[in-house]
Amino acid sequence: MTLRQFDRSEEEVRSEESAMTRGKQKIEAQRKNAERNQKAKGSQIEARAVGLKVICPICKVQLANHNQLVDHYGSKHPKENPPSESG
Ligand SMILES: [Zn+2]
Repeated sequence: MTLRQFDRSEEEVRSEESAMTRGKQKIEAQRKNAERNQKAKGSQIEARAVGLKVICPICKVQLANHNQLVDHYGSKHPKENPPSESG
């Protein structure tokens, strides 16, 4: 009788432990997912901020593309030649 009770309680404890472990893993997975989502959002915002790809080497102003850099050179640095698009 006592032995049987002991066996049962041990089984219960074991199943409880595994349930706890599963719950913990689930919570951890959710946390990791949330972190991953946050990181993805952050990188999207960063990518948007980095959308200005061309930087004037003279005054370091940021421009959206090479055409704007050429315009910028024409108005701000008319004596300088804008760098080539490939470079
Ligand atoms: Zn400039």
